[in-house]
Amino acid sequence: MAEPFLSLDGVSKTYGETVAVTDIDLSIQRGEFVVLLGPSGSGKTTLLSVLGGFVEPTGGRVLLDGEDVTHLSPARRPTATVFQDYALFPHMSVLGNVAFGLAMRKVPAEERRRRAEAMLERVGLTGFGRRRIHELSGGQRQRVALARAIAVEPKLLLLDEPLGALDLALRRQMQEELVRLQKQLGTTFVHVTHDQEEAMSIADRVVVMNHGRIEDEGPPDRVYLKPATLFAATFMGESNILSGTVRQRLEEGVLVDTALGALPVAATADPGERVSLSLRPEHIALERPPAEAIGLGQATLGEMVFQGTHLRLRAQTDSGLELLLRAPAGVALAPGMRVPLHAEAKRIVLLRSPA
Ligand code: ADP
Ligand code: MG
Repeated sequence: MAEPFLSLDGVSKTYGETVAVTDIDLSIQRGEFVVLLGPSGSGKTTLLSVLGGFVEPTGGRVLLDGEDVTHLSPARRPTATVFQDYALFPHMSVLGNVAFGLAMRKVPAEERRRRAEAMLERVGLTGFGRRRIHELSGGQRQRVALARAIAVEPKLLLLDEPLGALDLALRRQMQEELVRLQKQLGTTFVHVTHDQEEAMSIADRVVVMNHGRIEDEGPPDRVYLKPATLFAATFMGESNILSGTVRQRLEEGVLVDTALGALPVAATADPGERVSLSLRPEHIALERPPAEAIGLGQATLGEMVFQGTHLRLRAQTDSGLELLLRAPAGVALAPGMRVPLHAEAKRIVLLRSPA
């Protein structure tokens, strides 16, 4: 395999007693769109700042394009950052903002103007060059920050929750535009968000973070369908978590005793081991069982919420568990109804950590 474009090797950062990130190992290939996903305080900004050179790690190394950049200042790295609050210069025009990094790199004035205008065109702001920052909407400011960052043609673009301040419709539009831009430029992007839907829709690879550590990393569909840890299963979308004990090995997989009965799971584990099982709401069938389904017993439907494309509902199983379920919008279901529940064995994920 080719040398990774970027590698983090045992990176840690502590602030006094606070451990912001700890022992992070991560490799990124050239041209990848990587998303760091995690709750507030999980260390995303710290890790991004280590990549950008704004924070010096207390341990470990950062290798970028074959060079050890661990102790290099931001200006000496081939990186650019779009900050969470955009950090635009209010006293400069839009064009001045976008051309700023080029001026720092001593690009001649005429070329600066030409390149800055080309960047404005790329982000859909042709003709906005003479405006002041306060004359722009939030979405336009976001685009200026992006244009300013890509104007210097970085090898690595770092984005810290760049869409956090935008309304939902604009956020979705910008997600698509970011992906398109990234593919056109071929630049490696590392993008931070706490929004799992955003992560899934834009990432080539998601890195799930919690308490300064990586819980899971991989393509969004793999992380969603086969999360590596309990945290990844519950943070990347909703899930039902069942605790269980491995009863025995099967020809393929293991049989796990749970409150919903003995469930076969495709995984390796030792008899007697205490485990958690994750089962997504949309993978539990109500009423009509899928082929080769396993019965999960009867349940009584509770609270339901219409969510446009589907119903999100709670159910109490006869065995005393509360489950989260999903049903297509428009099905005839009502609170108090009794339904049989089924799932396919291949949808049940075994997680090592007990709940
Ligand atoms: P995130 O971006 O995921 O919300 P951060 O990287 O900002 O997380 O923070 C990770 C942890 O490090 C938090 O506990 C935070 O309080 C702490 N932290 C971040 N920056 C500083 C700082 N400059 N001084 C002290 N503690 C900090
Ligand atoms: Mg942050």
